[in-house]
Amino acid sequence: MAKYIMALDQGTTSSRCILFDKEGHICSIAKKEFTQYYPKPGWVEHDPNEIWSSQMAVAMEAMSQIGCDAESIDSIGITNQRETTIVWDKNTGNPICPAIVWQCRRTADMIDRIKADGFDKIIQERTGLIPDAYFSATKIRWILENIHGAREAAEKGDLLFGTVDTWLIYRLTKGEIHVTDYTNASRTMLFDIHKKVWDTEILDYLGIPASMLPQVRPSSCIYGYTSEQIIGGRIPISGAAGDQQAALFGQCCFAPGDVKNTYGTGCFLLMHTGNDPVTSHQGLLTTIAVNPDGSPGYALEGSVFIAGAAIQWLRDEMQLVTSAAETEEYCNSVPDTNGVYVVPAFTGLGAPYWDPYARGAVLGLTRGAGKAHFIRATVESLAYQVCDLIKAMEKDSGHALSSLRVDGGASANNFLLQFQADILDTDVLRPSCIETTALGAAYLAGLATGFWKNADEIRQNWQLERTFEPAIGYQKRTHLLSGWQKAVSRAKDWEEL
Ligand code: ADP
Repeated sequence: MAKYIMALDQGTTSSRCILFDKEGHICSIAKKEFTQYYPKPGWVEHDPNEIWSSQMAVAMEAMSQIGCDAESIDSIGITNQRETTIVWDKNTGNPICPAIVWQCRRTADMIDRIKADGFDKIIQERTGLIPDAYFSATKIRWILENIHGAREAAEKGDLLFGTVDTWLIYRLTKGEIHVTDYTNASRTMLFDIHKKVWDTEILDYLGIPASMLPQVRPSSCIYGYTSEQIIGGRIPISGAAGDQQAALFGQCCFAPGDVKNTYGTGCFLLMHTGNDPVTSHQGLLTTIAVNPDGSPGYALEGSVFIAGAAIQWLRDEMQLVTSAAETEEYCNSVPDTNGVYVVPAFTGLGAPYWDPYARGAVLGLTRGAGKAHFIRATVESLAYQVCDLIKAMEKDSGHALSSLRVDGGASANNFLLQFQADILDTDVLRPSCIETTALGAAYLAGLATGFWKNADEIRQNWQLERTFEPAIGYQKRTHLLSGWQKAVSRAKDWEEL
C-alpha cells in the first residue's frame, strides 16, 4: 500500500519536493535553489534543463531521506511558478531557448501595441486578465519572432509550448504527454476562461499556432505515468495547479467567499467565487481555481507588489534589523506607530489604486518618532495593503469575508497577523502546515487516485495552529484606516515619467 504523495513544488527561485502522508503531514522535504539569469535590464530567464534537473534532484533526495521507493508513492502532484514560458522541439525534446520567467519585462512594448489596437478589451473579457507582459502569451510571440527558425518550425508543427507544469510532465513521461491544467492555462492570456478553450482569435492576433499548445485538463486527474527509468517505477502524475491556486486548495478554500492570503515577497490574495467568474471593477484578475471535486471553478486574485520585500528593505537597505523575524520584537516594544505611516510603493501601487507613478513615502513624522515606530509602521503597511485588496474583493464579489486563512514566510510574524485581524475586524487563521502550496498539489494528486476519498476527508486534515481575533474597537480601526488612506493619497502621483 502506497503511503506517500509526492508534491513537486517548482518555484521561481527554488525547486522543492515534499512527501506527505494521508494526514497531510510532511514526512520529508528537500529544496534546491537554481540559477537566475538577468541578461539585460528587466529580463529574467531560467534554464529549462536546470529546472528539470533540480526538480529531479530534490525528488531523489526527499525519497532517500526516508528510504522510500517508487512503490511507496501513490502519485505525484505538481505546482509551479506560473506564466513562465518554455518552448521546445517536439522531435528532440530540447528547449530552443531559455525559459522566459514571469517577471521578465521584455515584451512590455507588445502590450502597448495591444492597447493601441484596442485589443486589450477582448483579452480581458475572454481571459479575465488585464493584459501584461508577465503572462505567457507575448513571451511565446517573442520567441517566435526572435529565435532563429522558430516561426517556421512552429508553423510546421515542430515546436511545443508549455508552462512549467507542462514541461515537467512532458519530461516525467519521456515526451509522451503534452498537457496542462485549467489553472495554468488561465495564466497564459490565451485561454477563454468562460468557454474553457484556447481562444483562436487571440492566437491569430498574436500569430501563435494552436499546434504548439498543450491539451488542457482538470487539475485533479491522471495525466500519465512516470517513465520507469525516471523515478524507478510507473507512478501516476495526477495533480497540477499553478502555485497560488494550489495554495488556495491546500488551505481548503473550496466555497465561494473563502479567502487565503500568502505573505511572501509580495502578497497573493485569492477568493474562491465558485462557478461564477466575477468581473472586477477594481482591477483584480479573474482566474480559474479548483472546485472541491477537482473541476474548474473561479477565483478573484489580487496582489501586493511589495510586502515581505519591505521587511527585506528594513534589513538590507535601512539596516534597522538583522533579520526579518527581529521586526516583531520592535513592533511589540511600542504601543503604536506614534502616528507614522510607511507606504512602500517602491514600484508604484497595484490594486485597487493602480498608480504606476506612486512612490514610497513616510508620513506623520514628529520629533518623537523613533526606530521602533518606523519598523512597526512598515510591518503594518503589509496589513493595510491586504486590507485594501480584501475590501476591493468584497465589493466585486458581493461576498463578505468570514475569516482569512494565511500562509507564506511573513505569516510567522504574530504581530502582523494580530494587526491584520484588528484592522479587518475578522479572524485571521494560521494553519499548522504553512506549506500549503505543495500540500494543495498533493491533495489534487491524491483525490484523483482515491488516496483521499473526497474534499471532506481533506478538510479534516486542515489544522489550526492559531487564531488571531480582532481586539480593537470601531473607532480606533476607523482612525487607523483613515490615516492610511491619507498616507496613500500623499504617495500617489509622485514620479514624473
Ligand atoms: P517567497 O516565496 O516570496 O520567496 P516566503 O514565503 O519565503 O517568500 O517569505 C519570505 C518573505 O517574508 C521575505 O520577504 C521576508 O522578508 C518575509 N519574512 C520572513 N519572516 C518574517 C517575519 N518574521 N516577519 C516579517 N516578515 C518576514
